[in-house]
Amino acid sequence: MKRTEILATIRSELFYGASNYTKSQPDLFVPHRFQIVAPSRVGAFLETVKESITEEEILLYVHLPFCFSECLFCNSFPHHVDKQVQQNYLEHLVKEIDLFSAHGVFDGKKAKCIYFGGGTPTSFPDEDIKRIIDKITSCIDLTENCNITSEAHPATLDNKKRIVELSKIGLKRISIGCQTFDPDVLSLCNRYNTASQVKRIVHTVQDAGLAINIDMMTGLPGQTIASVRNDLDILEGVKPNAIEYIRHEIVNPLVVELYRERPDLVVQDNALFEMVLLTQEWMEKFGYEQNGRYSNDTQWEYRYHWLKEVPIIAFGSRTRSYTKTICYDKHEDLDTYSRLIGKGIPPVGRYIPLTIKEQMYRSLILGLQLKSGVDIKRFYNSYNDYPSRVFNSLLLKLETYGCLEHDDISLKLTKYGAYFVEDICDNIIDTALKEVSGELVRAPHSEGSKSSRLNSLESRVT
Ligand code: SF4
Repeated sequence: MKRTEILATIRSELFYGASNYTKSQPDLFVPHRFQIVAPSRVGAFLETVKESITEEEILLYVHLPFCFSECLFCNSFPHHVDKQVQQNYLEHLVKEIDLFSAHGVFDGKKAKCIYFGGGTPTSFPDEDIKRIIDKITSCIDLTENCNITSEAHPATLDNKKRIVELSKIGLKRISIGCQTFDPDVLSLCNRYNTASQVKRIVHTVQDAGLAINIDMMTGLPGQTIASVRNDLDILEGVKPNAIEYIRHEIVNPLVVELYRERPDLVVQDNALFEMVLLTQEWMEKFGYEQNGRYSNDTQWEYRYHWLKEVPIIAFGSRTRSYTKTICYDKHEDLDTYSRLIGKGIPPVGRYIPLTIKEQMYRSLILGLQLKSGVDIKRFYNSYNDYPSRVFNSLLLKLETYGCLEHDDISLKLTKYGAYFVEDICDNIIDTALKEVSGELVRAPHSEGSKSSRLNSLESRVT
């Protein structure tokens, strides 16, 4: 198929607009099957978690959910920055790590990456971040090249001394959110970062020997194709080590309010499609790894190993952890989170034991985001079956759309499939849920399937 034919097919058959799928939860497909873990059963539950981790190397995620203000596009506004609340949270977080250690979850394991996410982790002073790293290293060995990354708001990093300090305490990589450099769009989104500030930060971070990623977005309120082009021109001069383009998801009530008053600010699907295409082609041209083309662990170490199905143990309220067979969440409510830890109980709230078929779907979704694709031999060794047999009609459809190719070794996305990997993952998730429930019962990170999202948005903005 030619480029135009493939893109037209993707646009008409697969494009989900403001995709439900989110790369910060790249395998979020599990439906409403959570089971509650009673506090009295958490010890036994952690035994099961331990047994389910056969790998020696694991990934650690640390959630620091505090921000200075609420961005309009935020899908999970954390807590407002407050010194006392943050100190209380920190005390409980380090105890939580101790509790997991005491239950033997780290026995015989090594941490391959530590990722500080949020929120704005850098709303905590450096000594607090160091304290968490020290706590982790007192409980678990790190691999020789363990990568420690922190997300950061540009406003917290425009300071050379701080960047040098962060490198001294062990950080190897920083990820800052910019989303766009368009001042009008930023102002609508309650964000204020300038191109010159970001350029300065990138160069200072790189001079200090750290790598830096910039998060960008398409589909923000009032964003135009010309504005996206301008962002790309600026990025060309900034040259961060990695760039992640994601689509704005219409999930925050504040943005729904805005669209109700200003429907003209909604980015229509045609324009959004063009924006995705534009940014992905640009990323490819300038050597940045794309959504469906992670090829090694240099630009996206934590994400790369996640996609390789390395288990994730997450700390902090409202975090999700994964082993091959279990997905579990910590309590979201800060009081419950702290109260349980105060009683010496790890704050696990709910879990899903993944069925074999769910594990297969997870392997498919994660593997398709690697440049090397789903390793057919590995899949067979894990499940005693072939993906082409298990997902026969789904894969045939994606192949017909020009999004997928396979041989005896692997099953992988084509170039254009990789550009629209979020839509492919959405499609796979919908297929999985339909298979499980007979209908679409999306666990709404966002607003449901494409049509229900568009309908509900329409009713809210008219
Ligand atoms: S900085 Fe990030 S986490 Fe904080 S409000 Fe904005 S989008 Fe949400």
